[in-house]
Amino acid sequence: MKTIIVGAGVAGLAIGWKLAQAGVDVLILERAQPARAATWAAAGMIAPTAESAHANADETQFARWSAALWPDFAAQIETQSGRRVGYKRDGALIVAPTDEAAQELRARSNKALLTASEARAREPLLSASIAGALWDSDEAQVDNRALGVALANAFLRAGGKLSPNEAAVRIETEGSHHAVRTPFGLYAGDNILIAAGAWSAEIETGTPVLPPARPVKGEMLALTPPANTLLPRQVVWGNGVYLVPRESRLLIGATMRETGFDISVTKQAENWLLDRAIALMPALASWTLDEHWAGLRPGSPDGLPILGETRLKNLFVATGQFRNGILFAPAVAETVSRLILGSAAPEIRSFTPQRFAEVS
Ligand SMILES: Cc1cc2nc3c(=O)[nH]c(=O)nc-3n(C[C@H](O)[C@H](O)[C@H](O)COP(=O)(O)OP(=O)(O)OC[C@H]3O[C@@H](n4cnc5c(N)ncnc54)[C@H](O)[C@@H]3O)c2cc1C
Repeated sequence: MKTIIVGAGVAGLAIGWKLAQAGVDVLILERAQPARAATWAAAGMIAPTAESAHANADETQFARWSAALWPDFAAQIETQSGRRVGYKRDGALIVAPTDEAAQELRARSNKALLTASEARAREPLLSASIAGALWDSDEAQVDNRALGVALANAFLRAGGKLSPNEAAVRIETEGSHHAVRTPFGLYAGDNILIAAGAWSAEIETGTPVLPPARPVKGEMLALTPPANTLLPRQVVWGNGVYLVPRESRLLIGATMRETGFDISVTKQAENWLLDRAIALMPALASWTLDEHWAGLRPGSPDGLPILGETRLKNLFVATGQFRNGILFAPAVAETVSRLILGSAAPEIRSFTPQRFAEVS
């Protein structure tokens, strides 16, 4: 079996890796370099609880399943690539800055909230004025930039082929046979998978078949602490931002704006992120801004992932993971590789690419 995958982000690489391990001849076409788009820009949180506030039941179940797959997924990538991915389950504090936010948190969780002083005992950098916090010891993180490099390596070592700097321009279809046209050639496969992140709807097709994925921009910052200052020990959420200790830096994310395929960084976003982070942890006012970047999350009209076969047989899509593409990676890899292999896959009807009127 031969599968052509468009896009070497975490989705395309993870699915390609699974397929290559199952003996499939896999070629990934990547417009730029592998894992340098949203996969690189992310915060790397594996946060099924913190991200569950607006999730539907299928998504919550998928997130929990994926989080449970993560330890093994990370270990296998490390073994097969010989590179570290920095998976850590060191928990998260979800802070309620106000009494109203504390009430909302109580409604979402069956766990008791920490009082402000208990939360500050766990995280001394927190502001004295918070109302309380939820402690979730299961939340985890991975170094997403290291993950991208390791996953590409594991994919190649499993026998997969990767063609960087080669963009898919068009899908050419005859019946249930498809081929991907690039400026350099035409690649036919038994299956084609579009895993091109926020750009997944941009590839030409004869008839409208690719679901309406769209870019949702996120800007992030990284701060370095003054000498002899410890980073927080865990991820901290609150005030509409999250703070992620990563190596020697603290990441602050993220804005959400729909401005098309634009990854410029703005002073406005920098101020917004800093103001909110400093309100949560006043000491951050004296930390140094080290990096400011932006990336494009793959959004979908209903906010749910888009995973599975399109109405054209043998043409598959994996996109729409929105804020959770790192969290979802193991479950996306498992589900979509099983669908392509024709083996039993968990049926997630609400994620089907065929649910959109534009393509049905
Ligand atoms: C600021 C920010 C913070 C985030 N934080 C988190 C987080 O903490 N946890 C979490 O789970 N998720 C997070 N996310 C979301 C996560 O990053 C994405 O959901 C995930 O990376 C999507 O992976 P992907 O492989 O689908 O897309 P991408 O990583 O964007 O990869 C798509 C690839 O397709 C390529 N491509 C596009 N068009 C073509 C073409 N025509 N031909 C060939 N190649 C093409 C691109 O060059 C790119 O390499 C965050 C996202 C952002 C922006």
